[in-house]
Amino acid sequence: MNKKTKLIHGGIVGDPFTGAVSTPIYQVSTYKQDGVGNFSYEYSRTGNPTREALEKLIADLEDGHRGFAFASGMAAIAAVMQLYKSGDHVVFTDDVYGGTYRLMSKVLNRFNLDVTFVDTSNPQKVREAVQDNTVAIYVETPTNPLLKVTDVREMRTIADEHDLHLIVDNTFSTPYYQNPITLGADIVLHSATKYIGGHSDVVAGLAVVATEKLGEELHFVQNSVGGVLGPQDSWLLIRGIKTLGLRMEQTEKNTAEIVSFLQSRDDIVTIYYPGLKDHPGHDTHKAQATGFGGMVSFDVGSKERAERVLASTKYFTLAESLGAVESLISVPAQMTHASIPAERRAELGITDGLVRISVGIEDAEDLIADLKQALEQE
Ligand SMILES: *Cc1c(COP(=O)(O)O)cnc(C)c1O
Repeated sequence: MNKKTKLIHGGIVGDPFTGAVSTPIYQVSTYKQDGVGNFSYEYSRTGNPTREALEKLIADLEDGHRGFAFASGMAAIAAVMQLYKSGDHVVFTDDVYGGTYRLMSKVLNRFNLDVTFVDTSNPQKVREAVQDNTVAIYVETPTNPLLKVTDVREMRTIADEHDLHLIVDNTFSTPYYQNPITLGADIVLHSATKYIGGHSDVVAGLAVVATEKLGEELHFVQNSVGGVLGPQDSWLLIRGIKTLGLRMEQTEKNTAEIVSFLQSRDDIVTIYYPGLKDHPGHDTHKAQATGFGGMVSFDVGSKERAERVLASTKYFTLAESLGAVESLISVPAQMTHASIPAERRAELGITDGLVRISVGIEDAEDLIADLKQALEQE
């Protein structure tokens, strides 16, 4: 199956019980048993038909063995981290999503899950960070907000050398453009709040594992800890996924036009976009993904100018989050990455003048006109 067909025909299509073409919302907590222990569904924390349709679909889209849906991206990430135990060590991408950094450095550290944050775009740094107690490498590619690219196949090689799990947060590229399991990952994560949902109307997380063993282990955690996604939100994601391909293509087309507009100006300090040939991760990204996506960051020079731009856009909504049909704009230093200490932000290059846009599916010429007038505000 090709990708756009898979978005419609992957997983469980419609409803096996009634023939309904769209998977119904099974708004139910418990199920009648035909005899003690004789049932296909038992209790909706353990399994629910609507959530299961979504879980099978994401497993198909990521070419994995089994999928899991959680109440948020963070709940999915936390569940995956609960596969490990006190005293274990995980190597992380350094400019990982702010919430992931916070989870590891302020919550799971209390349980002695040890972490090292390194620039995973440099495999040598990852090799140096591996310790005797390392159990996994966790990467985001491209990253947020600097769009740094990590070579997933190279990470697999390192993981094999030390018998580690390889975990990839694939939120930015989506399964439409990048499939980390086919590149060697053991576990793929998504904040489905972003492109997968795509309409700024649901908070959700997804995980896909490559093997039956990991599937059993993660289901045990999902059912024991309980951060599952409800049926209504599961349905919204199934609906969102049907147009993922169309949305990604329009987003990427718009993004290419916006990037060339930004390049044509001499008042932008730096543009971060993996689609640019001079982006350090361009070739690696091209070798592992089929599209560059719709996230772009650019430095307008100062905090004051960034604030002026953010105060003046009309179609780019000032908001956290990304990956929706509507274009969004933010300043990472004060918003998504505010939970990262200022000195660490400086080390990473997340300057006060850095503006991040998530390009939506509006008409590119309107988006460009909007950015132009915002950049020209005195
Ligand atoms: C938003 C985001 C998360 C967290 O997901 P939530 O759905 O907000 O809990 C994790 N990783 C990345 C890359 C994200 O953008």
